[in-house]
Amino acid sequence: MTSPISLPAPGTRLAWALTLRCPECGARGLFRHWLRLQPRCGRCALKLDRGNPDHFVGAYLVNLIIAELLFAGGLGVWLLAVWPDVPWDSIEHVAVAAMILSPLVTYPFTRTVWLAADLIFDPPKATDR
Ligand SMILES: [Zn+2]
Repeated sequence: MTSPISLPAPGTRLAWALTLRCPECGARGLFRHWLRLQPRCGRCALKLDRGNPDHFVGAYLVNLIIAELLFAGGLGVWLLAVWPDVPWDSIEHVAVAAMILSPLVTYPFTRTVWLAADLIFDPPKATDR
């Protein structure tokens, strides 16, 4: 017997997640504020941590990977643009600021993208609502 509810395609889930929408139904308003996720989606009632206290660890990992990739990419572009007269002192100051700010800026996106990835590989169950 097939489910009467059609699940969003993986690409749709990820696109919704990248725009901070619910990867299950596309609703907005998943965050109380930039760093605080609502407990459930207001439209489909999906538990946004899926009822798993370790769910945050996956989002943290995605956040760390994205922050490091942004740092490495930005540093590489900067070095190529100014080589061989590299302003090492400026790079040091900007790098410290970037490593502090980039995880904060990308945090909500990594939470929703991680949720979307989790839903793709482990589709929602009745206990997720
Ligand atoms: Zn939803």
